[in-house]
Amino acid sequence: MSSLKFKGIELGPIGTNAYLLWKEGRQDCVLIDAPPECKEEINSFLQEENLVLREMWLTHGHWDHMAGAESLNDKNIHVIGHEDDRVMFEQPEIMSTFAIPGLRMEPVKIDTWVAHGEELSFLDSEVEVRHCPGHCPGNIIFWFKNENVCFVGDVIFRESVGRYDLPGGDMDTLQHSILKHIYTLPDETVICPGHGPTTTVGYEKMHNPFVRP
Ligand SMILES: [Zn+2]
Repeated sequence: MSSLKFKGIELGPIGTNAYLLWKEGRQDCVLIDAPPECKEEINSFLQEENLVLREMWLTHGHWDHMAGAESLNDKNIHVIGHEDDRVMFEQPEIMSTFAIPGLRMEPVKIDTWVAHGEELSFLDSEVEVRHCPGHCPGNIIFWFKNENVCFVGDVIFRESVGRYDLPGGDMDTLQHSILKHIYTLPDETVICPGHGPTTTVGYEKMHNPFVRP
């Protein structure tokens, strides 16, 4: 089994992390989150590494994580998301008051709605989907079990948590999601968040001032 590789690239007007995932010697590539205006940088990375984008896994429906998806999707790229954010994927303009004025926001067509507990596979990796609402209704995280790395969107950041004051957000719900679905992962799990640096589950359990285990 070849090992998983991933690269985080900070993109878009408010510095959103997109992650490209692939395996040594294979061409297939998954993109986790598609910030606005990400096309050029994503495509040049794919070209450099000789990769082909097959899937886009969107952690949630906020514009800074998905407004670039349609511009990349000129081939048959399989897009997944969570149904509880459907309205934001399909009518992104409802969030325009929270976006950068004048930014173009194309709706995103989700091919497959995934649910909590569902298992995805990417090449030979097993990936568990966990539904973590609170920042928004439909934030999902992708836990690569054997590699022990988890892509979490805006649920938790290094020593911080996602905003819970946006429409559909709620602090109690967010706290519950983190306690139940993030702090229960192995301590050594690497957390790759939607903004800022990576961290680990063990580090956040010790140092995150917002959610104490
Ligand atoms: Zn967000």
